[in-house]
Amino acid sequence: MHLSSKVQNFKLLPYLCRFYILYMTFKELGIIDPILKALEAKGYTYPSPIQEQSIPILLKRKDLLGCAQTGTGKTAAFAIPILQHIFNDNRNTKGQRKIKALIVTPTRELAIQIGDSFTEYGKYTGIVNTVIFGGVKQGSQTSALRRGVDVLVATPGRLLDLMDQGYISLKDVQYSVLDEADHMLDMGFIHDIRRIIAKLPTKRQSLFFSATMPTSIVKLSQKMLGNPEKVTIAPKQTTAERVEQALYFVSKKNKPKLLVHLLTRNQVDSTLVFTRTKYGADKIVKALKKVDIHSEAIHGNKSQNQRQKALLNFKEGKTKVLVATDIAARGIDVSELELVINFDLPNVAETYVHRIGRTGRAAASGIAISFCDVEEKPYLKDIQKLIAQQIKVIAEHPFLNSGDNEPAEKPKRPQRSNRPRRNNDQRSDSKKKVDPENKHKRDRRRKPFIRKRD
Ligand code: AMP
Repeated sequence: MHLSSKVQNFKLLPYLCRFYILYMTFKELGIIDPILKALEAKGYTYPSPIQEQSIPILLKRKDLLGCAQTGTGKTAAFAIPILQHIFNDNRNTKGQRKIKALIVTPTRELAIQIGDSFTEYGKYTGIVNTVIFGGVKQGSQTSALRRGVDVLVATPGRLLDLMDQGYISLKDVQYSVLDEADHMLDMGFIHDIRRIIAKLPTKRQSLFFSATMPTSIVKLSQKMLGNPEKVTIAPKQTTAERVEQALYFVSKKNKPKLLVHLLTRNQVDSTLVFTRTKYGADKIVKALKKVDIHSEAIHGNKSQNQRQKALLNFKEGKTKVLVATDIAARGIDVSELELVINFDLPNVAETYVHRIGRTGRAAASGIAISFCDVEEKPYLKDIQKLIAQQIKVIAEHPFLNSGDNEPAEKPKRPQRSNRPRRNNDQRSDSKKKVDPENKHKRDRRRKPFIRKRD
């Protein structure tokens, strides 16, 4: 039914307008049939708020500055209009496909997820995408590029690398997306991003997404965007409000025992355990194995294939416990994730919010449990200040002993040669400008500024 026929009774106008706005469908947004068919297959009828606001702007080919995080439906908000434009533009073109849309995103996991979304939403359009990221051999990526793609999803380093080698030309790009811009800057990609932007044609539609908008991001967005329309999606409830949280004070030594206790006592189908270091993640997997709990670890020292396989096993429920460092966990989108356990408290308070946001996605509510040893109490203070909440403390548990006395039990500083080889982790990723899985040392000195955000 068209709006005009709905509003013949004037008194009903405000109600009907509200109804119309609330229940706008993808079809009413003007999405073309081949994409609608794919959305229907995914069970999407109604656009999420960011989709409802962004799609009309993007279909008019305007630039967009979007303040929104993963989990809001942001990917479809940009993928659908881009697919629609390319589909309409492509109708009469023949010959080798050229890269018409470029999506730059900080991590391989996000890149793969975005590539999958383009494949799914575009499956009846004939539009071809490929994903490129570092940490794997480039052979299959360059072969896909040689065959020709319409949409390229890339992490910055590999993109520049393949551009330098002459496999990629950006001269035909008409649609560009910079995704998770704040994470890109946190990860030290600013110079790479500037170099990429410099290679893009000036006449193009640009989209820029970031969960937060500090000055550095606003400046970067101004370099990339003309006169953008702005869309801000503030989550109705912050993650910290949505997710049920609990805290266990426990000594470092007793953390593995407490973990085993919680995992065996509660029948949970999907638990994501966070550690601060790669070494710590592997250690937990070994400790769980000893008590017959199967788990897998994902972190920066695992190959891309290992990470993908572990993630798939977790999504399919074959592995019930996944142990991850913060960087590796970015982009994990497991809709049914029930429990997050912070085995180590993160030293940057915002990371806590990112971590617990892995559970309780979309409308679901989740549970986040944190272990806190005596050395982590300053981190806890920062976290509680950021989320403006006191996390509920579980006062009774079997491993309560020695929590506050822990420093007295601490072994003497090991001899130089016996010290844990923290730098090995760092060395293995030495090509990166920053290794975020190990950058907590630097962060402590720098004292992170505290922003309240989801
Ligand atoms: P994103 O923010 O793009 O990571 O999307 C978050 C989750 O929402 C993903 O699992 C999507 O598949 C899902 N999603 C995106 N748009 C819709 C929609 N309109 N209806 C239902 N689910 C959606």
